[in-house]
Amino acid sequence: MSTETTGRFAPSPSGKMHLGNAFSCLLAWLSARSTGGRIILRHEDLDPARCRREYANQIEDDLRWLGLDWDEGGSQGGSQYYQSCRREIYQHYLAVLEEKGLVYPCFCTRADLHAASAPHAADGTPIYSGACRELSPRQRRERALLRSPALRARVPAETVSFRDGLQGLYSVQLEKDCGDFILRRSDGVFAYQLAVVVDDGLMGVNQVVRGRDLLSSTPWQLWLQEQLGFQQPEYCHVPLLVAAEGRRLSKRDGDMDLGAIRASGVSPQSLVGRLAFLAGIIDREEPVTPEELIPLFRWENIRKENIVVK
Ligand code: GLU
Repeated sequence: MSTETTGRFAPSPSGKMHLGNAFSCLLAWLSARSTGGRIILRHEDLDPARCRREYANQIEDDLRWLGLDWDEGGSQGGSQYYQSCRREIYQHYLAVLEEKGLVYPCFCTRADLHAASAPHAADGTPIYSGACRELSPRQRRERALLRSPALRARVPAETVSFRDGLQGLYSVQLEKDCGDFILRRSDGVFAYQLAVVVDDGLMGVNQVVRGRDLLSSTPWQLWLQEQLGFQQPEYCHVPLLVAAEGRRLSKRDGDMDLGAIRASGVSPQSLVGRLAFLAGIIDREEPVTPEELIPLFRWENIRKENIVVK
């Protein structure tokens, strides 16, 4: 069996690419390329209300401009690299979980979920109370007349541990620290947690490099991989680029999106040099190409904590 690294870019085309996305993509690319590995580009456009093809195309253009290429996927790979075109596949794996008795309908409203008393997970999202976990078949039928349910995974009270390539050991009790999670929203849109596990599994991804904000989702994904019979990839959760107050860069920081940065006349080499300096790959900010960084890349030099850029 080949042990070639297969990494991926998995952007959500819900807006323009910002500096933080470029930072994660650069590290994902360097991590794969420094061991002679491959990169897949998959557009995570599950949410039709937020995602657009134009954004996906723009992200591809921005990646190319940065000098980050990929070997498989993207628009040239065809529709199977767009999550919006893979619903039947997710439906199949949802049915596998249903078959195992791991799925239940949840009728809670947004207000129920954000009730002030709810304990919160590491990323600040409320941990599900379990309110709909044990509804009787009759209660389910009655509620379904009023509201179409989301589908939730029933997680066990088990400890999930893994060693992140950058952040070290991460260990949680699934039921208490993470809670039951959504597999399909009430409007029928499949959830990121399910889609990402199915796609990484089917696409042979064995290295996931992504922002630290997703560290707390990883235990759910490990558990899903086990239930669905997929191999566990290696994970490296990289720092987020944040504003001075510790706030995550967002669309509000319009000057931090690649469109604005490119329009300001910055060269791709200068931007890559800045990102490489912020990451800890080079010790002086100077223009450089991703190719030139390959021999310099070592995970042990990469910063672990979020990085203030504004
Ligand atoms: N599509 C997700 C995002 O852009 C990333 C998912 C992942 O890397 O697992 O935030």
